[in-house]
Amino acid sequence: MAYAISLWTPPALSIAGSHDAFPVRRIFCVGRNYVEHQKEMGGDGREQPFFFLKSEFSLVPAPGPGAVEVHYPAKTSNFHYETEMVVALGKGGRRIDAKKANDHVFGYAVGLDMTRRDLQQVGKDHGRPWDFGKNFDEAAPCSALVPAAKAGHPARGAIWLNVNGKQRQRADLSEMIWSVPEQIAYLSEYYTLEPGDVIYSGTPAGVGPVKPGDEMNAGIDGVGELKVRIVAAL
Ligand code: MN
Repeated sequence: MAYAISLWTPPALSIAGSHDAFPVRRIFCVGRNYVEHQKEMGGDGREQPFFFLKSEFSLVPAPGPGAVEVHYPAKTSNFHYETEMVVALGKGGRRIDAKKANDHVFGYAVGLDMTRRDLQQVGKDHGRPWDFGKNFDEAAPCSALVPAAKAGHPARGAIWLNVNGKQRQRADLSEMIWSVPEQIAYLSEYYTLEPGDVIYSGTPAGVGPVKPGDEMNAGIDGVGELKVRIVAAL
């Protein structure tokens, strides 16, 4: 069978220490998975986290340690960073037991769940979907994956972000409300998970705006770092 238009290659993440790439199928994101972030977003810190999705075509994969560029997006005047650990599934499944969920993980990366906060707020105010606030071009920068075979399954360790050399976010992975295995188990009750699916596992407190010219440096102990430069709008 031929395709009527030329076929695209799947978005893919690089893998630290390997020439192989990791093709990305879907991007699940957990919202409000750290108590202090719930509070800064106006919650009482006692809410249940929840999920939303971003298109895999919003990925900006970092090929290596150098900075990737993200264009300031259209139709926003409040463009926010959210530093998150990214979990890449190498094995799918449904109704996965949290105790066995780590067996489904290929590796981990450092990601930024970039957000048009003003458009997200419009969605919240009107009870509408979040897509325009969360799911747009270049909304998901992500570092190279470190395979679990090398890094293990990080459940604690610092997660941090500096903007122009000033620390803006710093927390510990152990402060997640839903651990990574719990997130996988929960999602697999609602979806048949597939190899290539990735999960942005939530951001700690300290989210804030960036503008063209800003340099972000995000990191997670034992996982890696991600450098992103914000450049002028297209
Ligand atoms: Mn997020």
